[in-house]
Amino acid sequence: MYSFDYAKPKSVADAVSALKGDSDAKVLAGGMTLIPTLKQRLAQPSQLVDLAKVPELKGIKREGDTLVIGAMTRHVEVATSKEVLAAIPALAHLAEGIGDAQVRNRGTIGGSVANNDPAADYPAACLGLGATIVTDRRQIPADQFFTGMFSTALDEGELITAVRFPIPQKAGYVKFPNPASRYAMVGVMVAKTAGGVRVAVTGAGPSVFRVEAMEKALAADFSAKAVAGIKVPSDDLNSDMHGSADYRAHLVGVMAKRAVEACG
Ligand SMILES: Cc1cc2nc3c(=O)[nH]c(=O)nc-3n(C[C@H](O)[C@H](O)[C@H](O)COP(=O)(O)OP(=O)(O)OC[C@H]3O[C@@H](n4cnc5c(N)ncnc54)[C@H](O)[C@@H]3O)c2cc1C
Repeated sequence: MYSFDYAKPKSVADAVSALKGDSDAKVLAGGMTLIPTLKQRLAQPSQLVDLAKVPELKGIKREGDTLVIGAMTRHVEVATSKEVLAAIPALAHLAEGIGDAQVRNRGTIGGSVANNDPAADYPAACLGLGATIVTDRRQIPADQFFTGMFSTALDEGELITAVRFPIPQKAGYVKFPNPASRYAMVGVMVAKTAGGVRVAVTGAGPSVFRVEAMEKALAADFSAKAVAGIKVPSDDLNSDMHGSADYRAHLVGVMAKRAVEACG
């Protein structure tokens, strides 16, 4: 680990001002990704701005047809929240399947979304449910937020403050977890929303993506058999020691069928 300055702001305004003008500063949320990165000397921030004591960033509330989840809300809180279980049970189920108990007790939705790991679960929830990422300066639709592997539309020093999830008519999330880390080999979120059917896939490609062919088929017939014959091309999918691109393409079809079946 290299040495760095440490700030523990008590408000979003103070966090933003600590980040301002310091292009090498990093925000610290649950630390589940950032701390190991620092320990391995893969990052050398000038300053860590720890969000742990910013109350505005915590909590889950329902605003009409939308669930608003603060950036510093931990995975365990989403998994066990009465509001989430009542409004979007698929989201609670997704959070319950992240990592292990230690990771769920520390990891946050804001950290996960900002990190945009290609195998993370929340990006599939955001894209599949048509969420909006709220920052200290704007609102970014999920369709524009996840720009590539570990990259997002966030500008330098921009802070995620919350994620707004429109409550769908139905939604289901199923993943095939890597047996070691529980990250998704492939995870699929299917949702029937006011704006149409959405299908988002994580784990398979460099970043989360939608499957238009499945969305069209499900809009015409919302059943598992409607997606059964739809194949996702493997050309741009990930291939590594855990599975080939062809295997992941196959898993997308299987997980999509199961996600439709899981829709409440
Ligand atoms: C063993 C293990 C297993 C895991 N398994 C899974 C899994 O199955 N599924 C899954 O989805 N994830 C998994 N994770 C990831 C984990 O769930 C965390 O979500 C993830 O590590 C990032 O969240 P964090 O709160 O720990 O963020 P941190 O590690 O603190 O930060 C991550 C990055 O996001 C930035 N950041 C954090 N908060 C904000 C914010 N509010 N605004 C702007 N930038 C911000 C930080 O600067 C940093 O660059 C696993 C992690 C581990 C260690």
